[in-house]
Amino acid sequence: MSELKNAWDVIKNNVCEEGLLIVLSGPGGAGKDTLVRILRKTYINLHYVVTVTTRPKRTDEIDWEHYHFVDDAEFDRMIAGDEFLEWVRFFDYRYGTPKEQVRSALSHGKDVVLKIETQGARKLKELVPHAVFVFLATGTEAELEQRLRQRGDLSPERQKKRLVIAAEEMACLPDYDYVIINANDTAFLAAEKLKYIIEAEHLRIGRKAITL
Ligand code: 5GP
Repeated sequence: MSELKNAWDVIKNNVCEEGLLIVLSGPGGAGKDTLVRILRKTYINLHYVVTVTTRPKRTDEIDWEHYHFVDDAEFDRMIAGDEFLEWVRFFDYRYGTPKEQVRSALSHGKDVVLKIETQGARKLKELVPHAVFVFLATGTEAELEQRLRQRGDLSPERQKKRLVIAAEEMACLPDYDYVIINANDTAFLAAEKLKYIIEAEHLRIGRKAITL
């Protein structure tokens, strides 16, 4: 009996109970926001990190829900205070992941999802290699182009720039652990797939807890 009890420790020693850090990237128009919105409604143990940006707020956006919107001086202060896990300049604005929010959610056993672009994901891969890196793409190139063109909030010049950036972002796909194809009208299926990935990662033998 006691031999079996000791042998059972193999589970304790190889199964990690702590939260996952899920890094979700993919070109603008791939549907990251929709996926996260669906997942937040259906997967309760998830913490969505509200990142910080110097980009002006769009009309339908809410401070502390979509982003924490700050000015350049505040962003500089946060960099000086070492408050970011990573930060990047994307187009004309800066975006950063607040370290404390991620640390606190993980310590409460939550799975944390970060929706960030590929330069930031690359930095995180070096910093936290045990995070789960998921890439979201559209079904076809034409679908991506169509979704980007449909975005009413972008000028034609900015849309063109976005297409160039989207191509650069697609080239980063091999650096990720998983890819989810979010073809038109399949967002719910794509969200299910992300849920399967999260479930499978929880069952991974020898998974390491994230330390920040
Ligand atoms: P948008 O301006 O369209 O909301 O976001 C532009 C890009 O920045 C998106 O790919 C978004 O996922 C990414 N992003 C948002 N917050 C962060 C962040 O904190 N760090 C990084 N690296 N990218 C971010």
